[in-house]
Amino acid sequence: MLRGIFVARIDALVKSGVVNKEGFYTLGGRLAIDFANSYKRIGREKEGISSFEDLLIFMKSHHLLHEDEASDLHMFHFQNPGRCQKVVDGLVELRNGFRNVLTEVEQGWPVSLDFFEEINKRLASFKSYHKLEPSEEGMALKSIIDENGPEKLMFPIVRDIADYLASDHVEKTRGCASDDCDLYFVNQSRNGRRRWCSMSTCGNRAKVNAYLKRQEA
Ligand SMILES: [Zn+2]
Repeated sequence: MLRGIFVARIDALVKSGVVNKEGFYTLGGRLAIDFANSYKRIGREKEGISSFEDLLIFMKSHHLLHEDEASDLHMFHFQNPGRCQKVVDGLVELRNGFRNVLTEVEQGWPVSLDFFEEINKRLASFKSYHKLEPSEEGMALKSIIDENGPEKLMFPIVRDIADYLASDHVEKTRGCASDDCDLYFVNQSRNGRRRWCSMSTCGNRAKVNAYLKRQEA
């Protein structure tokens, strides 16, 4: 019964674009922010990415990893769990640092030079090249990483954080206005007035609470 309620709830949230079917939040507006929010996951009490398996699921559910690449990495994990865990730990550490940056940015502080340096160091650790590939709008210039080990999982994330830092999304970053929610999003609403991570969760709860308060008064 409980399981049924849970499935119905997650289905509704998937439909409204709040989470993906694996329970990871997809409301951030771009990968970097969804990654920052990945510490939380619907149906999980604790950390959303606590194992290499979780990381593969995060990547697959964000369309960053093909099924065959995932099964290769799965095999790799059998042979070399230590190296895979290092990737998980490195990403969680990066995410915690990035969340601190988002907190500061939301309060109007500039991004710290230390963080730029950290991202540059991580970018420099990848061997990558550019390639033209067909896309929905003709051709697109893509960066391809020249790496087949688990470290390649870091690449799209580090790249999008770097892209984010170079964009006007930094000044549009907001934290959910709900007191007990610490999800971030890029405020791209036309009137710039989006306050909640989503209307289906915190926004709705706030509306109900405001209504109840009015009833009391
Ligand atoms: Zn919220």
